[in-house]
Amino acid sequence: MSKSANGGFLESVSRNFDKAAPHTGLHKGLLAQIKACNSVYQMRFPVRIGSEYQVIEAYRVQHSHHRLPTKGGIRYSQKVNQEEVMALATLMTYKCAIVDVPFGGAKGGVKISPREYTTAQLQKITRRYTTELIRKNFIGPGIDVPAPDYGTGSREMAWILDTYLTFKGGEIDAAGCVTGKPVNQSGIRGRTEATGRGVFYGIREACSHKDDMAKLGLTVGTEGKTMAIQGLGNVGYHTGIISQEEGGVKIIAVAEYEGAIYSEDGLDIKKLLAHRKKTGSILDFPGAKNMKQRKDILELKCDILVPAALENQIRKDNASKVKAKIIAEAANGPITADAEEVLLKKGIMIIPDMYINAGGVTVSYFEWLKNLSHMRFGRMEKRFNHNTYRNLVALVERMTGKTVGAKERDFLTRGADEIDLVRSGLEETMITSYDQIRSTMKRKKAVTDLRSAAFVSALNKIGSDYESLGIFP
Ligand code: GLU
Repeated sequence: MSKSANGGFLESVSRNFDKAAPHTGLHKGLLAQIKACNSVYQMRFPVRIGSEYQVIEAYRVQHSHHRLPTKGGIRYSQKVNQEEVMALATLMTYKCAIVDVPFGGAKGGVKISPREYTTAQLQKITRRYTTELIRKNFIGPGIDVPAPDYGTGSREMAWILDTYLTFKGGEIDAAGCVTGKPVNQSGIRGRTEATGRGVFYGIREACSHKDDMAKLGLTVGTEGKTMAIQGLGNVGYHTGIISQEEGGVKIIAVAEYEGAIYSEDGLDIKKLLAHRKKTGSILDFPGAKNMKQRKDILELKCDILVPAALENQIRKDNASKVKAKIIAEAANGPITADAEEVLLKKGIMIIPDMYINAGGVTVSYFEWLKNLSHMRFGRMEKRFNHNTYRNLVALVERMTGKTVGAKERDFLTRGADEIDLVRSGLEETMITSYDQIRSTMKRKKAVTDLRSAAFVSALNKIGSDYESLGIFP
């Protein structure tokens, strides 16, 4: 495949791997095994659309089987091609390793533009794609577990589960064959917001280190920092909302495919989404200015730039114009390897995709665990904890002779619900993983950027899995 067809995405992933690999101390043969995509399934299937038949091109790539099942989303886009799906599957392997999700990496892609199909037609395509996966043993709770990605959501995941059940209805753990399902279809609370929430936790962690912030000329913490977001899909939207509401971040610009808007005073993301629903566009949002071109957002002066759309957005041709101090890669692969060299020379901090957007797969892992345990998180302990806390408060009241107010009592005695546990697990994951990456960078003098440090951390974890098999020296 030519570089122009996919913008060299796979090549960028490969170059980033090669840059970090020498710092791992792993055997050359082992590194070659980790780097390779294990299984690439390219398929073509006919779907009747109206009175015609369309031959749909689709893929599922399993990059690494060092842990099972393999895991990764399914993308619906006209731009899908084999190399893109291979690059995305590869990133999933490292992503899972970084956040200690015990899966190998995978990704799927269907080369369609969802806007051109009715809901019924999309359902037909999704069901047929799932059938192809079942036929080749490319899906199952212990084999390969898809999830949403660009162009898909919980609706598609429900269709996938239903198709799977049609063929494998007797399988006790069948619900774990796909994640990102609607909550009432064996999904989990907090999955939809998970990637965006994880992006916020990751940014907050990065901004909590005084010396790192000082190097960028920034203060500690997220409060008052300016942010520009490219892409107001599920990831960009939740990153914006949560950064605004929980981190005190000021969103000064947003880009979508119809254009970009800017306001020095900050944009209210909730109101902006309502405006887009009403008018069909983010443009002409009251109090904001329309920008000349949507790509101008990447060159805007701001503290944090969040590319939350697609790969290859910051390239050699525009990298030197980027003025942000921190780039949080909410999308997969938004910066090419060439561009990265330029950005790092400029002293920009890049928080890499394989860490910062790993919140989605982390909560997918929680959903899968929920499916295998056949029980909602919190069901066993919520009431027990509530009663224990209530007794504790009563004891303190008796000992002090003071009474706790009703609001405070509710807060102190609440047992955790599923959503509380999911958020807490996600927060813990993002904090611990950032710590691992940062301390890898501190420990290895020759590793000077977060992406290389993330790679080193991931490769060492995967390498030790292989080493314990005794295949490699
Ligand atoms: N598509 C998401 C990603 O790129 C989520 C994958 C998953 O939940 O398995 O990380």
